[in-house]
Amino acid sequence: MPTEKLSSRAIVIGGGVAGKLSARVLADYFEEVMIIEKDHKQDQPQNRSGVPQGLHGHALLKSGEEILEEFFPGIIDELQDSGAVSANFSRDLAWFHHGSWKIRSHSQLMTIQQSRPFLEYHIQKRLQHISNVHSIYGAKPLRLVLDAKKTSIAGIEYQTEEGKVEEIDANLVIDASGAATFTTQWLKKNGIATPPIDEIQVNLCYASRAYEHLSPEDRDWKGLLVYPNPPHQMRGGGMYQIEANKWMVTLFGYGLDSPPKTDKEFLEHAAILDHPSFFGAIIDGKPASEVNIYRFPKMRRFRYEKMENLPNGLIVIGDALCRIDPVFAQGMSLSALEAKQLEKVLKQATKHQSLEAISKKAHQEFQRVLSIPWLIASIEDFRFPHTTGNRFFGLSFLQGYIKRVMLACSDNQIVYEKFMNVLHLKAHPATLFAPKMIKSILFKTVTPRHNLDKEKVIRS
Ligand SMILES: Cc1cc2nc3c(=O)[nH]c(=O)nc-3n(C[C@H](O)[C@H](O)[C@H](O)COP(=O)(O)OP(=O)(O)OC[C@H]3O[C@@H](n4cnc5c(N)ncnc54)[C@H](O)[C@@H]3O)c2cc1C
Repeated sequence: MPTEKLSSRAIVIGGGVAGKLSARVLADYFEEVMIIEKDHKQDQPQNRSGVPQGLHGHALLKSGEEILEEFFPGIIDELQDSGAVSANFSRDLAWFHHGSWKIRSHSQLMTIQQSRPFLEYHIQKRLQHISNVHSIYGAKPLRLVLDAKKTSIAGIEYQTEEGKVEEIDANLVIDASGAATFTTQWLKKNGIATPPIDEIQVNLCYASRAYEHLSPEDRDWKGLLVYPNPPHQMRGGGMYQIEANKWMVTLFGYGLDSPPKTDKEFLEHAAILDHPSFFGAIIDGKPASEVNIYRFPKMRRFRYEKMENLPNGLIVIGDALCRIDPVFAQGMSLSALEAKQLEKVLKQATKHQSLEAISKKAHQEFQRVLSIPWLIASIEDFRFPHTTGNRFFGLSFLQGYIKRVMLACSDNQIVYEKFMNVLHLKAHPATLFAPKMIKSILFKTVTPRHNLDKEKVIRS
């Protein structure tokens, strides 16, 4: 951490996961960091209206967990002491995919399970201890303030909760306002061209509810995932144990006209998944919430790194920059990986004591982080016949190969471990194409595993 700060003030618009993690990084480089949040402060681990997706399953990948721990040492223990559930990814997750259960033996990959509001509340608690980070709640950003030539950011204008309009100067403004981002509109208002956009239309729908308890039966898993199997099966579901001994149960479907909204429809959707264990686990369970719906029409990625005239000092991060199909559970971890890249460019800027071209450098680094997760999600999403977007060269080959990798995860622990690392954004997918892997994947017949039992072999 530099002793002398790089600059005076940075503003973060939006205090979700991306905003909080950005603020944590900026605090080391700016004398003051202000978070402008439209919502109210979270006084307890409860969902808030600014994050409607928080009512749905939110898995934290290992890559995200590790960065969280690096930014806030001890936070993972704190989360567990407060009720987050520790799980061994391959042993404790029962995952049915392509007509087969994945192998269930102990791996090196330990994860923590909790609801999104619980996780965010604990991050907020830690952020409150950083003396140069301040949050303004109930505030509405109105416009970007630029220098006379419109080449650099000079601050923002916002409306306070009481309706007062204030202008505040800053050398860096981060847009972390999520799906609702206003940056392109603000650029247009300033006569600045907007960035190119990549989009893939997926028409995904989520229906989730918390459960007080599941059906009273013996179970040896802490998470259950029954994945869709396109083109025949467009629906899937996941459930996992969270804090306070509750369960988060999420059903999802691609290209569904109407998602399940009532108790009856929720059970009906569960009953037609590819494996009956899902329905069995909730039929005699006790729901603890209503069914909440979230529609996710498309994956979207703004290419700010390609812009030549983006005012320097304006940086877009998190969901405001890129939204990937949430079924892959990458969003929060990508926010964390982007925050790490932000730290990298600020460290470099400190060497020259200059924020010159900081926006360009940051967006270039962010795209490096995003390109693989975007590819992983598109390979899978283009299996659904209704998905539209840029079908790239080599897609069919990759789909065929990855399907074989996923099937090999039914009986080959080494393949599964490599696959898990890619899934958790800890390893490059190229690791799945190493000669030894190709041999075990292409030249071996896999026997589908229909039995949900844990492996007898426990590896330390
Ligand atoms: C259904 C669903 C399920 C998901 N499941 C997972 C999962 O399992 N794992 C995972 O890692 N990710 C998941 N995600 C993605 C994850 O929610 C986001 O990627 C992650 O929260 C990072 O988002 P963010 O902080 O950029 O935006 P958000 O979390 O949406 O936060 C945006 C913040 O900005 C505030 N805001 C909005 N507009 C303004 C404004 N004009 N002014 C001021 N403040 C504003 C909001 O109140 C909010 O606090 C899921 C997403 C969806 C939709």
